[in-house]
Order: sequence, then C-alpha cells, then structure tokens
Amino acid sequence: MAKKIRFRFAPSPTGFLHVGNLRTALFGYLLAKSLAGDFILRLEDTDQKREVEGALESLLKIMAKMGIVFDEGPQIGGDFGPYIQSERLAIYRDLSDQLIKEGKAYRCFCSAERLEAMRENQQAHKLPPRYDRACRDLSLEESEIRVAAGEKFVIRQKMPLDGEVKVHDELRGEIVFRAEDLDDHVLVKSDGVPTYQFANIVDDHLMEISHVTRGDEWIPSFPKNILLYQAFGWTPPKFFHLPLILNKGGGKLSKRQGDVFVEDYLAKGYLSEAIINFCVLLGWHPKSDQEFFTLEELKKEFSVVGLGASPAVFDLEKLDFYNSHYLRQKSDEELLELCREYLPGDYQEEFLLGVTNLAKDRMKKLSDISALSAFFFELPDYEPSLLAWKSLSPEESLNNLREISVILEKADIHWSKESLEELVFAWLKAESKKNGDYLWPLRVALSGEKNSPSPFEIAAVLGREEALRRLQIAFTKI
Ligand code: GLU
Repeated sequence: MAKKIRFRFAPSPTGFLHVGNLRTALFGYLLAKSLAGDFILRLEDTDQKREVEGALESLLKIMAKMGIVFDEGPQIGGDFGPYIQSERLAIYRDLSDQLIKEGKAYRCFCSAERLEAMRENQQAHKLPPRYDRACRDLSLEESEIRVAAGEKFVIRQKMPLDGEVKVHDELRGEIVFRAEDLDDHVLVKSDGVPTYQFANIVDDHLMEISHVTRGDEWIPSFPKNILLYQAFGWTPPKFFHLPLILNKGGGKLSKRQGDVFVEDYLAKGYLSEAIINFCVLLGWHPKSDQEFFTLEELKKEFSVVGLGASPAVFDLEKLDFYNSHYLRQKSDEELLELCREYLPGDYQEEFLLGVTNLAKDRMKKLSDISALSAFFFELPDYEPSLLAWKSLSPEESLNNLREISVILEKADIHWSKESLEELVFAWLKAESKKNGDYLWPLRVALSGEKNSPSPFEIAAVLGREEALRRLQIAFTKI
C-alpha cells in the first residue's frame, strides 16, 4: 500500500507568528490537501528559554481564522501523539541511547570553559567555529564510567570525516556538501533536552511525515539531518525548502522595516482572505495569470509545479491591493461587523451602515475606517478658506452655500442621496449655475474635509437635521 501523504507544521511557541511561518504552514496545508493528505501540527517547545506563555492558543486561533485546519495535533489529538515535544522526552532519550550504543553519536564531556577557549582560538585563527571532536573517540566504556561518576555531558552526532554528502531538495534538486564542513553538532543538551536537529527528525519519522515544508534557513543543517536518518536506517521524507522572503529593497524581511507578524496585520484590519492570497503568492506561481484565490480554490489549484526556489518579495502594496479587493466584496452588514472595533459605539445601526458603505471604496484595511469616517461623528474645526472653490472668494462661496441651504431647507423630499441629487442638479441647471461653485462649499460644510464622498452621500447619511446644522456652522465661520 502506498504510504499516506502527511505534511506537518512544526512551530516553536516563541510568541507571534512570523509571516514566513504562516507561508510555510499554508504551503504545507495546501500541498497536503491537494494530494488528499493529512496536515499535522507539532509544537517544538524544546527551547524553553524562548517559550512564551499562551503561544499555542494564540497560534491555534490564528490558524482557525485563516481557515487552516489540522487533522492531528495538540488539543486535537491523533494516533501519533503526544504532539508537544516536551511530552516526548523519554522517546528522545531511548533513541539517543541507541545511537550512542551503535557508535553513531557520542557523549561529549567538554566543559563550557574548554569550549569557550576553543572558540576564541578558532576566531583568532579565522577558523570556522567547530567542535574539535576531543570526545569523539572516547570508548563507550569510559563514557559510561564518566556518566556513572555524575559528569555532565551533551550528545553529539558523529559526522563523516571526509567525502561528500548528497541531499535532495524537491525545489532545488541535488545539493552537495563536503563532509569536512559539517560540525559534530549537539543532538541532546546537558539537561537531557534534545535540540531541534534531533527532536525534529525523530518526530518526523515517528509521526510518519512524508513531506516537509520548511524555510530555506535550514538548508545548512539539511545534510546533518539526512545523515541522522541514515544513522537510524530510516527513509527521510521529501523536503521542500521554501525560498527566503525579501523586503522590497532586497534585504531579509525583518522587524526593523515594519511588521513581520501576522498578529500585527490582523490588528490593523487585514482580512484573512487577503493575507492568505498574499502569502500564497510568496513563492508559488499559478498556471494562469489569475490573481485572486480563495482558500477553497487553492486547495484544488495549488501544486508543486508552481513552486520555485528564487526569493519571494514582500510587497505591502500588494497586500493592500488584495485587502481592498476582499473588503469590497463584503456586504455593508458584514463590513460593519468587521469595522465595529474601529468605530465609536452608541450610534444607530442605519447610520453606521451608511458610514461604512461610504468608506468601503476608499479603505485599504479595516482600521482605515476610523480616519475615513471621523467627520461623520464629529465635524472637524476646518479653516474657513477651505470653503472657497477655485477662484471664488470665501464670501462668494458662503453666499452660494446660503442659496443652496435655502433650497435644502424648503425641500419637501424624502431625504436620500438620489432625491437630494435630483433636487440640487435641477436647480443648478434651471439657474444656469456652475456645479463646482455650489457643490464644493456644500461638501466642505458637511464634512469639514478637503477630500470626502459627494455632498449628497454625506447629507443622506447624516440625516436632514444634522446636515442643516452643519450648514449653519459654516455661516458662522466667515
Ligand atoms: N521549530 C522549527 C521552527 O519553528 C521548525 C522548522 C521545521 O519546520 O522543521 O523554525
């Protein structure tokens, strides 16, 4: 029977979710689903110093929000648990003992001071930092005696001393490393806790992971990982090392140039649909020039064929572009629900719906609604000169505003955008007036802003009473 397709996402609970990690999770999920496989979550919490309280809960929440569903994992369950590495220490201990017995790993008793002196010496001689293998040839017997005497030790992987190590990456093909460049790195620390390099390989094997998607920062340790599979006599999964994500300037995406965490983007009001659409194109090239993809579409469309190894560019304008697109697809009711946290409370539903509707086309993200709609809630204290249109003086503009306000006050109409428009345009036409001479001051008087939606739209949302009150305020300005 063919082996089941199983991908995994293996984050460390170190706090916020980096956009690059979301991309890794997304690619793993989509490849798994497009191949009718399973997607597994495993928490890699062996670096307790870096652990942040509540990180798992927050991660699960974000994944759910993004629509990424795990088939197995912590708090979900499955046949390959536990899915949290700190609960698997006994497994790692047995397997590292096995490697020591078979001579594929060894205990290293070197003190921190000795290692420090060695490193300084290497630095002084411009040599690469590498363990000098002082403990590599200790006999198993001597090693056991030192353990029994209570000496502290780490466990190191035995690298081949010469020759080449060939590894295969699904996106790059064969990569060749020289054995002499490989360090006998630590697999288990002196407190008995495994490093990423050990626990990750052991778990991928025991959890029967068939395919690994991970960042290409792991390529330097890739040969050591493959050697570890060989040391155990296990078949490695297929590896996809996903390309680096660069900022627009060509540098590595880092916190210094702006937000790198998914939480930041969610807080600013980027929709999960937009974040997914944006992330999926960081390294995947669709067959056609289709630009918008829902997660459901991606589950069918996504494939290995469109994956490449060249770096992806993180272009925030693209994210804005996708977000604007998905915002516009929302109904006014949906959009209002999403915007509520950025709007003042205590206003009537109909008013808030009108406000949201008018901001919709100009919003790039949900939080933009605050600035775009502030004038609805409180008329800004604008400069009287703003009322003047082109060559008109403030006085002439005010005069025009007076004329138009009389028309509005007298009008016996249903107060809507359409009827206001009809009324005012008919009057302007009948009186052979120029539109701008009247509509500009009217719009400014209603919004107090240089840029805003049309005066008819604003007046309709404000309602008759408030609209007329704002015109009165304009009269007191000059
Ligand atoms: N715990 C590792 C990380 O968060 C996982 C890398 C991998 O997917 O193997 O970077």
